[in-house]
Amino acid sequence: MTPAEKLAKIHELLLEKYGKPEIGDKDPLSILIKTILSQNTSDLNRDRAYDALMAKFGGNFEKIMEADVAEIEEAIKVGGLAKQKAATIKRTLKWVKENFGKFDLTELCDDPEAEKKLTSIKGVGIKTARVTLLFGCQHDSFPIDTHIYRVLKRTGVIPQNASREKAHTIVDELITPKIADVLHLNIIRLGREICHARKPKCEICPIAAICDYRKA
Ligand code: SF4
Repeated sequence: MTPAEKLAKIHELLLEKYGKPEIGDKDPLSILIKTILSQNTSDLNRDRAYDALMAKFGGNFEKIMEADVAEIEEAIKVGGLAKQKAATIKRTLKWVKENFGKFDLTELCDDPEAEKKLTSIKGVGIKTARVTLLFGCQHDSFPIDTHIYRVLKRTGVIPQNASREKAHTIVDELITPKIADVLHLNIIRLGREICHARKPKCEICPIAAICDYRKA
């Protein structure tokens, strides 16, 4: 089985197991801010941090951009790494205002250089950019987080020595169009529920039959 066939099979098997996950927020700017907040924390604490930020500044991105980093930091502390995230959020909002004249990223969705532009913001990495473009712009853009990186290496879709950055370009060559959102969410679910970093539960894994780690 080639890596591309394996990836397609993983999609099929996870679809059978989990179905199509619900896709929530579709506004690219709020997805970008939420994804910055999601670093090294649970979805629950990411959402708490985002809600607290919106509550403190009345949902007004202009006010957040103008606030001191310390004020933003205070609002989002529940999500951890608050100082770093607060600085990235302020920087990002400034960038959005400077480039689009308003707090709206929908114009960016039509830009073929969108990923490059987003990753030019200090603190916004390739995963964050791609999450924004996948869910906020419906681009065929596959983001690789820590769970996906682990599952793709264990199954043998990507080589063991591929860096996270390189993994993105490898998967771009393998993935079938129009499946990135469902595949992304379903592999994350597999990583959280079954393919744990320390003790993967291979005996109940729906993709065990095609997994190199399981075979070994
Ligand atoms: S078989 Fe085991 S190692 Fe392979 S994906 Fe499933 S849980 Fe992970």
